[in-house]
Amino acid sequence: MFGQVPHTQYDLHFQVLGIPVRIHPAFFVLCAIMGFSEGWARELQVNVLIPILLWTGIVLVSILVHELGHALMARNFGWPPNITLYHFGGLASFQPSYGYTPTRSVLISLAGPGAGFILYGVVIAVEYLMAQQGIRQTPMMFYIFLQLKFVNLWWGLVNLLPVYPLDGGQVAQQVCQRLDPYRGMANTFKLGIIVGVGVAIVAWQKADETYVALMFLLLAFNNYQMLEQTSGRRGPW
Ligand SMILES: [Zn+2]
Repeated sequence: MFGQVPHTQYDLHFQVLGIPVRIHPAFFVLCAIMGFSEGWARELQVNVLIPILLWTGIVLVSILVHELGHALMARNFGWPPNITLYHFGGLASFQPSYGYTPTRSVLISLAGPGAGFILYGVVIAVEYLMAQQGIRQTPMMFYIFLQLKFVNLWWGLVNLLPVYPLDGGQVAQQVCQRLDPYRGMANTFKLGIIVGVGVAIVAWQKADETYVALMFLLLAFNNYQMLEQTSGRRGPW
């Protein structure tokens, strides 16, 4: 997302569907912080390590599915991809060597959240089938299904907001450049600032979502910095 993710000797390497995947150790640190919940440990009547492990598995699978959506679409266009998971989530990289079009770029951007929405649908279907068969969910199954649905629906929707470099921001970039090839990038960043600050305010005031508010403030600031670099002058706009 923000430049290259540095390699370490603790990186995990493997392949999924022939696509190289690398997991930076900071990814697990992020999962441990987010997954820590004494409330859930009490609810499930387990050690506090268990919700952390379950959450790590849920986030790992969900982000991997999201990035595989991007990566498989890129490979479909003939551009070999690779995936990195790190402290800010996931990243699917590829070099569009030939046949690059704005439409293809938009399709690759949408394929990530799209893959997450499919996983969301699969979880709903499994829950429905279990209910049909009269299979009761254990508290742990309830936790896993709940978090899988939350992550794949809400993170996908948040990712579609037109704030660069989120997936929705990448789509906005293609649209802005199409509308105004000369000022397209600057307009993308301006949109990112407005929507980013707006989402931060709503998340802070109405939803009490401090983490989301901070993330969007950071993204808005990032867009402001990129806008300054694009326009080559000091001061806003
Ligand atoms: Zn994405």
